[in-house]
Amino acid sequence: MKSSRFPGFYKLSMEERLKKIVEFASLTEEEANLLRKFGNLDPKTADIMIENVIGAMSYPFAVAVNFLINKKDYVVPMVIEETSVVAAASHAAKLTRESGGIFARATAPIMIGQVQVVNVRDPFYKKMIILENKDHLLKIANDQDPILVKVGGGAKDLEVRVIDSPKGPMIVVHLLVDVRDAMGANAVNRMAEAIAPYIEDLTGGKVYLRIISNLADKRLVRAWTVVKKEVLGGEDVVDGIVYAWSFAAADPYRAATHNKGIMNGVIAVALATCQDHRALEAGAHAYAARTGRYLPLSVWEKNENGDLVGSLEMPMPVGIIGGATKVHPVAKIALKILGVRTAAELAEVMGAVGLAQNLAALKALATEGISRGHMELHARNLAIMAGATGDLVDKVAEIMITEGKIRFDRAKELVEQFLSEKTLK
Ligand code: NAD
Repeated sequence: MKSSRFPGFYKLSMEERLKKIVEFASLTEEEANLLRKFGNLDPKTADIMIENVIGAMSYPFAVAVNFLINKKDYVVPMVIEETSVVAAASHAAKLTRESGGIFARATAPIMIGQVQVVNVRDPFYKKMIILENKDHLLKIANDQDPILVKVGGGAKDLEVRVIDSPKGPMIVVHLLVDVRDAMGANAVNRMAEAIAPYIEDLTGGKVYLRIISNLADKRLVRAWTVVKKEVLGGEDVVDGIVYAWSFAAADPYRAATHNKGIMNGVIAVALATCQDHRALEAGAHAYAARTGRYLPLSVWEKNENGDLVGSLEMPMPVGIIGGATKVHPVAKIALKILGVRTAAELAEVMGAVGLAQNLAALKALATEGISRGHMELHARNLAIMAGATGDLVDKVAEIMITEGKIRFDRAKELVEQFLSEKTLK
């Protein structure tokens, strides 16, 4: 029996750790060498980014083109493993260009820090006491981050809620922090931790959690666009897209996939620029469910001219300072390609990309269906999975596309056929 217990694993050098895993998983020397390839991330940086590093993994870095956002042209870096996302984003961006592009506006970058207080007999009375001491609490919070305050950010306000929970009522203090160009989790967490002892003094209660909320509903991006019916292929397509949205608005099973399409674009940019994509996903889905029903993050309607109009509203906690954004050298290049000067501008680009990505998916669904475009691009992946290399990848993919049989079993058959023909020769 193999044991996954490796005492002091984290203290070992990267090479020593890798050796242990090579042994554990019976990796070949070739496989170990592949893990040793760090590409554009140097081993020392990788080793400080996360724990227990034994190697690195590369993803394709692409750019979506054609984006006109707030009347400015953007080339959008995307890192993603799924075929057709980049092509779809570029295509939809082109459709929106014809009528002036996409417009987007980010709200002030306010993040929420939560402090949970339990064992308070008179929570509503203590709520008043906490609010009465707001200025003092904000000062303590701001003392933790003079740099943030200097750039115009910092703790700005405080809200107090009394919530019912399975363990009885509890006070939840929300510290509202303007995090400027940061994603803000570390900054907010430090502040929430700093005010906790004072809140205990004021309430006589016990503080447990002191942590940012990923339901960043005060840090939103709004994006909107008009798409002319002619560029979509007629009013029928407009109607199809509006029906597709309507389906999502009425059915959470569809809404989840609708929002997944939006996140295809948002997360691809997030990965390219080293954002906390889990925070973005958590925020998006929690926001979609904020009314108690899971809803689509975008709305598609038909205007008085019969054109399609789309709008999107979602949390967008992204940063261009802090976290890994300035650690990964490629994330720095991605930000340079984007040419964004503030986190708000990055949020606006990402909101616009989400809306465009959604448009592309709905247009495909409302017309030829998603599989065709998707599967044609997927054909190459299937060929590779089936063992094709070099020229054989395209050969196998092309045959499957012509046959309309883009399936793994067919890819395997074709690869085997080609390889046996080659050996016979
Ligand atoms: P950070 O602490 O690395 O950087 C932010 C700091 O940079 C600020 O506190 C400020 O002191 C300084 N700064 C300098 N110039 C600034 C400017 N113009 N605007 C804003 N700040 C400026 O990073 P962060 O953004 O506070 O935290 C992000 C990290 O926290 C991410 O890596 C994320 O993964 C992680 N995280 C997330 C969660 C969560 O989402 N639940 C929880 C914990 C940690």
